Amino acid sequence: MPSELDKLWFSQASLSAWQNCPLKFKYRYIDGLYWPLATVGKVSEHIELGRKFHLLAQRYFSCGEAGPTPGEPLLASWLAQLQENFPLSPDREYLPEYELRSAKSGLRLLAKYDLLVVAADKVTIYDWKTDERPPRAAFAASAQTRLYLYLLTLSGYFQGEPDQVEMVYWNPRFPKEPLRVSYSARQRHEDEDWLRKLITEILSTGAFPTTLNEKNCRFCEYRPVCHGQGLEEVQEDLLDLEEVDWEQIQEIALQGVNLP
Ligand code: SF4
Repeated sequence: MPSELDKLWFSQASLSAWQNCPLKFKYRYIDGLYWPLATVGKVSEHIELGRKFHLLAQRYFSCGEAGPTPGEPLLASWLAQLQENFPLSPDREYLPEYELRSAKSGLRLLAKYDLLVVAADKVTIYDWKTDERPPRAAFAASAQTRLYLYLLTLSGYFQGEPDQVEMVYWNPRFPKEPLRVSYSARQRHEDEDWLRKLITEILSTGAFPTTLNEKNCRFCEYRPVCHGQGLEEVQEDLLDLEEVDWEQIQEIALQGVNLP
């Protein structure tokens, strides 16, 4: 096992990188090759809007106000939706941009939650999405959902049963169409097994094959290495923005890699 992996905290980004393309995982987390994704046009605008919305939400849940958004009517409307759909309650604790790590059970796990809302009998994870479609049902079985819910049950914020945690994906463009993912003891058990198996596979591998799905390459920062072509060289009118993995791009753009 490469020694870099001894120190790695496994995050949504690293697990997804492994699942999408083991070679990408190697470049990023073992070789330490990392540079910001070169983005163009709509991609770049989308990332910037997402970054600003995350910042507004962080301010709102930290101090009750998010500040003005002069000259940005779309962001202003998203903020209005946030305030309308998430009125602050004195009965709850709000933890925006909250990071949790755990090395319990030999698994080094890390998650950066957009928001945790802690009530007397329940903890809810919120994850903000800003792409141009409502949160998809497929998110419920994603590496992010499984890691985030499982890790929360290891934390001090969780004192009860697994069915007292929940994850909600929410998009201000579609405020009435959240995706709610409930949890259970059985799912928690399955997630622990899945994480252990996946991480054991990563730690014991000696091979990092390239992706078999070239769609994964379209918005990968290693395109210049693997294909000799950067994203900036792809004509924007040929990009199918419906196929973009916004979650992965935003995760990297907003959080970078989780190197120790
Ligand atoms: S460009 Fe494609 S093959 Fe190369 S690391 Fe990225 S996803 Fe893998």
